Amino acid sequence: MRVGFDVDGVLCHVVDSAMEAVAAKLGLAPDRTESTGAYTLESAFAHHGGAAVKRAHEAFSEVFKNDESVYERATPDYEWLALLFEAEMRDQFYRLVTRRGQDMSSVTARWLRRNYFSYPRTLHCAQGQPKSALLPSDLTHFIEDSPKEAMEIVTNNPSVIVLLRDAPYNRGISHVQIERVVSANDAAYVLGWRKLS
Ligand SMILES: [Mg+2]
Repeated sequence: MRVGFDVDGVLCHVVDSAMEAVAAKLGLAPDRTESTGAYTLESAFAHHGGAAVKRAHEAFSEVFKNDESVYERATPDYEWLALLFEAEMRDQFYRLVTRRGQDMSSVTARWLRRNYFSYPRTLHCAQGQPKSALLPSDLTHFIEDSPKEAMEIVTNNPSVIVLLRDAPYNRGISHVQIERVVSANDAAYVLGWRKLS
């Protein structure tokens, strides 16, 4: 197995810290009943009305572009970070592949170190480049959460199986090369790292 890991939405929930930055920018409190990783701008700001949701969308792309602290404060997902440790311990080939952009590489490496992961083997690209173009050519599996990027990867990499981390925002897609996984443990079984007894 040669496994690639997406960063945002798999190893961390950058949307949560972005939501906090948006809330601070707009001076509006987000709805906190949404669980981690399930936030959408609609659900977080709908109680302030449609105009607030529209402003939130504008602020959202703004904070991603201009606020490094959003990435610094991204909430780690330890279940998936543990799978990364497992790849390391099992001496499996793995790569981190993110479209954050080259200028985010030091922020990303720092974030990984702060979350106890000191073996970053990260690939980066300029924003705007498709993710499929970044994957090492011999990857067998890629762990992804974005429905758009999952479809883009399987369309352009016919031999890669995407393990789609199940989330409310990606339930609309299915494809013969996409396998939905509900947990990191589930992914470990699919990868053959753990066996059902
Ligand atoms: Mg992602």
